[in-house]
Parts: sequence; C-alpha cells; structure tokens
Amino acid sequence: MQFHYIANAPRTSSSDRTIPVIDPSDGQPFDELQRGNAADIDLAVRAARQCYDTVWCKISAAERGRMMMRLSNLIGEHAEELAAIEQRDCGKPTKQARADALALVRYFEFYAGACDKLHGDTLPYLDGYSVFTWREPHGVTGHIIPWNYPMQIFGRSVGGALAAGNVCVVKPAEDACLSLIRVAQLAAQAGFPAGAVNIVTGYGHEAGDALARHAGIDHISFTGSPKVGTLIQQVAAVRHCPVTLELGGKSPQIIFADADLDAALPMVINAIVQNAGQTCSAGSRLLVEQSIYEPLLERLGTAFSNLRVGPAAMDLDVGPLIRASQQQRVWDFLSDAQVAGIPVVAHGQVVDEAPETGFFQAPTLLRDVPVMHRLAQEEVFGPVLAAMSFKDEDQAVELANATQFGLVAGIWTRDGGRQLRMAKRVRSGQVFVNNYGAGGGVELPFGGVKSSGYGREKGFEALYGFTTLKTVAIRHG
Ligand code: NAD
Repeated sequence: MQFHYIANAPRTSSSDRTIPVIDPSDGQPFDELQRGNAADIDLAVRAARQCYDTVWCKISAAERGRMMMRLSNLIGEHAEELAAIEQRDCGKPTKQARADALALVRYFEFYAGACDKLHGDTLPYLDGYSVFTWREPHGVTGHIIPWNYPMQIFGRSVGGALAAGNVCVVKPAEDACLSLIRVAQLAAQAGFPAGAVNIVTGYGHEAGDALARHAGIDHISFTGSPKVGTLIQQVAAVRHCPVTLELGGKSPQIIFADADLDAALPMVINAIVQNAGQTCSAGSRLLVEQSIYEPLLERLGTAFSNLRVGPAAMDLDVGPLIRASQQQRVWDFLSDAQVAGIPVVAHGQVVDEAPETGFFQAPTLLRDVPVMHRLAQEEVFGPVLAAMSFKDEDQAVELANATQFGLVAGIWTRDGGRQLRMAKRVRSGQVFVNNYGAGGGVELPFGGVKSSGYGREKGFEALYGFTTLKTVAIRHG
C-alpha cells in the first residue's frame, strides 16, 4: 500500500479509498495508491504554507543549494531502485527507466548550483534615487504531473521551483506515482524541512482539480494534455493565479535531400519509439524532400520491421503503453488511417513472450499522410510515425507549421543558410538542427507556442517563471 507524503510523513487519504496500480507489461494490479481528495490537498497546502512562512523563508539560497545537492546525490545512490520502481509502474524498458532516474539526478544537480545565482538588477532612474529589483519566490507552488516521465518532469518542475525558493505540493498522475513518493522520502532524508515537498496522489478530476482551485496555491505548473490545460487555465483565471503550461506536440522531423541520413535515421526512429511514443516532444511527423522520399522510406521501413516490442523487463526497443485506454486510442488512430486508405510502410513485432494482457503496440510507419488527416494533426501518443513529402523549403515550412502545436522541430540539412532560415521560420519552442532531443537537455529551456503551452521549464530560464519580480525605488536625495 502506498501513502501520500505530506510534511515528511506518510498519510492515508481522508477518502478511505484507493486506486489500483497496474503493471502495463501484464495488465495486472500489484499495489494501491491513496485516492486523494480536496481535504488531503488542503492538508498538504497548509503544511507547505507553514513550512514556507516559518522555516523555508529563513534558509539561505546557498543552504538550499546544498540541500538540493544532497538530494541529487541520494537519488544517484538510489537510481537503480528508482529505475526498477518506474519500470514496473510505467512499463519502461530498463534503459529508459535508468535514463529517467539519472536525468532526475542531473536536474537536482543543475538546480542545486542555480539557487544562489538568481538575482535582480539595479536600474538607472532619477537623480537622488536608487532602484533595484528582487526576484522573489511565488510561495507555495502546485505541480500537476503526467504519467509519461514522472521523474524527469518532477525534476524540471519541482527542481526549478525549489531552487527559486518555493515550496511544493505535487499531484502525480494516477497511473504513475510510485517513484515520486519514494523521491519525497529521499528529500526528507536529504534534510528538506517538513512541508517543503509534499505528494498527494489521486485522480485529476478530484485531487488535481482541488489543487488547481486551492486559494493557498500561488503558482501552478501543469504538464499534460491541452484539454486539461484549458481547464487549469479557467480555474486559475478565477483567482488570477499564474500558470505554466507544458502541453502536447505534433513535432516535425524535416529531412532535406542533402542531409546525412546515416546520422539522421537512428535519431528519427528513436524520437518516435522512445518511451513507446508517449513523449510530448516525440518526432511524430516526418517531412521528407521529394527526391529522397522513396529511398528514405525504404530504409526506414526496414528499420521499423526490425523493432521489437515486449515487457519492460526484457529491455527491448519498445515497452508497453501505459494503460488499456491508451492502447485503444492508438488503435483508433490506426483504424481511421486504414479507412482513409493511408498506406502502412512497415511495423515492428510484439515478441511471443509478451503477455496478452499487456498493453503492447508495434511501432508503425505510415506514408502519404494527408496534412489535414488527424494522424498528421493530433497527438497519437504512441509509436506511430506519419510521413509525407515536400518539394521545397517553403512547402516544408508550411507543412511543419500546419498544426495547432508548436513544441519541438528537427531540421536535417548540411546547408548552413537553410539551417538558419528553417530554424527561424518554424514555429516551435525548440529547434534541433542535425540532432533531436526528445525530452533531453536539462540545461535547455523547454516549452511551446500555440496549443503546446506557454512558459518555460528546464534550464536557468525556468527560474524566472518560478519567481515574481519586485521593484524597490528608494528616494534618498
Ligand atoms: P492529462 O492531461 O490527462 O493528465 C495530466 C495530469 O493532469 C495528471 O496528473 C492528471 O491526473 C491531471 N488532471 C487530469 N484532469 C485534471 C483536472 N480536471 N484538473 C486538474 N488536474 C487534472 O495528460 P496525460 O494523459 O497524463 O499526459 C499526456 C499528455 O501530456 C499529452 O498530451 C502530452 O503531450 C502531454 N505532455 C506534455 C509534456 C510537455 O512538457 N509539454 C510532457 C509530458 C506530457
């Protein structure tokens, strides 16, 4: 049985209800979570406020950094344990689960070093005045986290918030809480005072909604679907609570005829099969210059046919999807594509050892996907790559920008001028040229435009979002 972690102590929910924890590799329940409600959220927010007002506000930035570094080290010491937890909870192949644990180590390392580097400015003003700005924490920040990368998203969101001097109440996704409960215990061991890091598990419409509505929350960091992002904004707008939204994507990989295909293809494949395609920044659209479209699809098709899918512990190319409804969602996209006559180039294989009750989906490459088809417009959140061709730079830009999203774009070309022209013209929060960072890069500011959200997390930039600026003007004559 798992518990909330509030004020450095395990707590049961006042709902007296639990949520089963399902292993995506076999579809079987193996644990239970507390089904948190508004009363549990209120308890956590009060604990956080008490901590902020009485203890946290007296801790220096340098000491906060040391605390965060101790936590980074502890997470490192427990990386294998955390990876094993995440593997079973989320169905992550071993390599991915380990990478997530190590990214969490790195987030806390990065933000540990950033704590005492954040400062305001002195400003020129009238004669006889001194004016300066302070970067102040919001206070109690709320963090609503999705199931696809719990540790990584906790690292970037909670890591940034703590570094900027906030205390945190976290509502992980109901499908993926276990690693974060463990990390909160490690935070207590690292010396974080009671109330600095609190975890309340539960459903989005109950605990998540209560967190977004709570009057004691001073800032909300939400990572999840555009649909819920809209709800969060509406709820937050009522009390003018600032929000950072990290939403979905339909990110293009744009390949020109002069690209180094030997370098591009493994990254194009990884960008869509990593985490079974359940990555907000997955490279889910492939735009290829006409003259190399056929040979490139042939090479890619061969590579897709060789991909193997199976239980997380087998550590194959692809693990299971998170849950049955996600598997059904992917099937719906593929059956719509079939009805529309969209050709399948190739797909991978689910291994015989995979239990029938697991949520497996073979990676699938489709070609000539019409730009307005939902496969080219909506987030599948599964290992499905939609390919189409373009004739020149202008058409590549038009196709790249032809969705509601704008999170990440990949550009593959050896032409330096084109690299810069394309990077400027593509509408997205990040552009990778001759590489692709699906989820990577602790140091790199990350976030979207359009329906991919607003605000930036990761990197030093995140600290500006987790603080508010106060201007102090002193007239001294
Ligand atoms: P989701 O929006 O369903 O859930 C995300 C979180 O919101 C969960 O913790 C959930 O419990 C909570 N939630 C659900 N309804 C809520 C409500 N009414 N009020 C408050 N909280 C609520 O998304 P998901 O299915 O968990 O994750 C997949 C989505 O997240 C995809 O669209 C993906 O692109 C996006 N995502 C974006 C990023 C990014 O950084 N841009 C990263 C990961 C995932």
